[in-house]
Amino acid sequence: MEKQIAVAIDGPVGAGKSTVAKLIAKKLGIIYVDTGAMYRTVGLYAVRHGISTKDGEKLKEVLDDINLDVEIIDGVQNIFLNGENVSSLIRTPEISMAASNVSAIPEVRTKLVDIQRNLAKSKSVIMDGRDIGTVVLPNADTKIYLTATPEERANRRYKELINRGNNVTYKEVYDDLILRDTQDSTREASPLKAADDAITLDTTGMSLEEVVEASIKLINKEEN
Ligand code: C5P
Repeated sequence: MEKQIAVAIDGPVGAGKSTVAKLIAKKLGIIYVDTGAMYRTVGLYAVRHGISTKDGEKLKEVLDDINLDVEIIDGVQNIFLNGENVSSLIRTPEISMAASNVSAIPEVRTKLVDIQRNLAKSKSVIMDGRDIGTVVLPNADTKIYLTATPEERANRRYKELINRGNNVTYKEVYDDLILRDTQDSTREASPLKAADDAITLDTTGMSLEEVVEASIKLINKEEN
């Protein structure tokens, strides 16, 4: 059997983490775990139940009612909330903000980190998020911190949302990105930051192929 590996990819909104991680997973034949989808699903639950996404007390009370299942279907992660496949419902700007709000609640993090570590226990994974290298998989074989200028990240995010049929302006996307990054990096519980042993890849001006290639070199421990 080949050696089991774990790759952690962290970084701010729109750095390209999920696109890059998905491609790497395919190339290396390992599993891609999208941890943001889990925070988004908890956010969706709160919104649907009329619970303020900043109400930690209330969210703690209902945490046991939130059953999350992750299934890889045709190589793509699908997420189920109490049995319902919500994968396509969690990609709206409203749910992005809801996810950022609920992710600041320590009990929410504990529940999701448990699920994430379990997924990495017996399989080779590439996992993306905000705290993978620092908290979820501190012993990951490779830790990459992907970033780019806020303008470039907002631009990528804007194009992605427009392609998905979302009705947004560049300014809304930019403002949402700055707000979420500020919230994610200043919260007390597992804030967004590069692990001490992570390698930062500034992807400003790089093509997707270049980023994937550079990341695979890092994973294979080749000289860049
Ligand atoms: O990566 P994505 O944009 O889908 O994440 C949505 C939100 O979930 C982030 O803004 C962040 O607040 C939260 N998150 C987190 N820790 C992770 C992944 C996502 O706090 N590991």
